Amino acid sequence: MKKNNPIERTCVVCRSKKDKSDLIRIAKLSNGDICVDKTGRTGGRGCYVCADPLCLEKMYKVRALNRAFKTNFGEDVYDRIRNEL
Ligand SMILES: [Zn+2]
Repeated sequence: MKKNNPIERTCVVCRSKKDKSDLIRIAKLSNGDICVDKTGRTGGRGCYVCADPLCLEKMYKVRALNRAFKTNFGEDVYDRIRNEL
């Protein structure tokens, strides 16, 4: 029998492991766009960041999503993510 562990994911900014409910999922859609996945059901590749203003600020600053998705997102994409949160 598998143990019923809580689902843990790693924040792309601080690399700490947290329960899924303490993280925000950002999904990369098949068209290459990224969006904040508020439902946790958006398809595509996802990455996680702490639901913490400090981690979010750092994510914009270091462009952590570029690294996470190996894509060079522009300022406008980060602005949009910031507005969605
Ligand atoms: Zn974090």
